Amino acid sequence: MEKVVIVGAGPSGLLLAHYLLRKGDRYQVEIYERLGDPTEVALSNSRTIPYSLNERGFRALRPIDGLEDAVKAGCVENCMTAFHTVDGKTQLVPRKQPIFHTNRISLVTTLLSSLVAMAEGGDRLKLHFNCKCIGVDFDRQTILFESVSPEAKAELEPLLVTYDRLVGADGARSSVRSQFLKTPFFDFEQTTLGRCYKTIFFPSKNSETGGDIKMKAFHVWRASEGINFTASPQISGGYIGVVFVPRTRQDMLNFASVAQVKEFFRQYLREVNLLLSDAEAENFMKRPISTQVVVTFSWIEEYSPGKITLTPGINWALWEPDNYGTGPSSSTLPTLLQELERLQSTEPLAGMLDLQRVILGDIRRGVAWRWKTQTRAFFLK
Ligand SMILES: Cc1cc2nc3c(=O)[nH]c(=O)nc-3n(C[C@H](O)[C@H](O)[C@H](O)COP(=O)(O)OP(=O)(O)OC[C@H]3O[C@@H](n4cnc5c(N)ncnc54)[C@H](O)[C@@H]3O)c2cc1C
Repeated sequence: MEKVVIVGAGPSGLLLAHYLLRKGDRYQVEIYERLGDPTEVALSNSRTIPYSLNERGFRALRPIDGLEDAVKAGCVENCMTAFHTVDGKTQLVPRKQPIFHTNRISLVTTLLSSLVAMAEGGDRLKLHFNCKCIGVDFDRQTILFESVSPEAKAELEPLLVTYDRLVGADGARSSVRSQFLKTPFFDFEQTTLGRCYKTIFFPSKNSETGGDIKMKAFHVWRASEGINFTASPQISGGYIGVVFVPRTRQDMLNFASVAQVKEFFRQYLREVNLLLSDAEAENFMKRPISTQVVVTFSWIEEYSPGKITLTPGINWALWEPDNYGTGPSSSTLPTLLQELERLQSTEPLAGMLDLQRVILGDIRRGVAWRWKTQTRAFFLK
């Protein structure tokens, strides 16, 4: 059996472990996670974030028997977004496809219990919580962990683990990725996005204050001073929201008292203030401020100098020896190339594209929208 060590028990690491265990006795999987067992932490004390899952996410779960249903059982299905403006108006926008709301901790705990059930108590799966990766020796194929459990820290020596394959699924600030910097050709860039955030939990109704989110929807508030707030309905009946503020105004999320928290919501997000308990206002005050990062690799670049390479989702079935070359292994590429041909024949880009040399950049919805709504002048700059 090959021993695969996965660092990080987030959604990626746990789903990958399912895929590996599906291969029968081929792999023995060990997962090491810096934090404690998520099933032992109350949701409101966890650093969870709301998740909205769409068809693309479920497609990844579908190959594992029962997993899609198990995750959906912890979601609120919804087809409506409610946009709230500064002047108190609300616009309801229906979605064509339903979206499923949950949160990171609920997703991770469902993945964990499904994984444990899949391993059937055998030794193909070992889970280690409170173990933080602090070093990797790629030549010796060893990885070093330290215990971050407050009780165990004094007693436990750092743990040296051997591996046949190593997977760094340790998230945006991956320490495995940092260790790769010691190897030739590897480099990456990390940019912090321009806004930071804190999560908050609140019920949909408060009979004492009269607060009531009438519509079960994904809610988006655009408040003044660059503050944005999104809130997803949860299976518990309440909501989990995220308050975003510009990073240059991070001070807005630093609070010294519950009264200051209440005042912040009263001033910027009045509807939420009416739903906020004092206990949750205190939790919100104590929660750390989080930032989001974008990580860009240049490793592939090194192997094909002068070219920019992208792998937007691979259809692995078409990489099998018997099927290779029988269809596009990257299913999105033909659609993108077709769209470029269409743009080449319509204004404002008509005749301006060199379709022999195509570089694919970011294709997220926001970026695509920005491109599509530009005038000819933008492209001529
Ligand atoms: C505010 C916000 C909202 C989002 N909303 C959505 C959404 O609606 N839908 C969606 O699909 N995605 C959403 N995302 C993105 C989503 O959170 C990430 O894509 C997802 O978490 C990536 O999963 P992961 O397993 O790769 O990494 P992570 O979830 O970051 O998990 C990494 C794990 O590795 C552990 N770890 C880190 N360092 C070490 C170490 N040194 N040693 C051991 N373990 C370590 C961490 O504790 C963590 O458990 C959102 C993200 C944010 C910030």
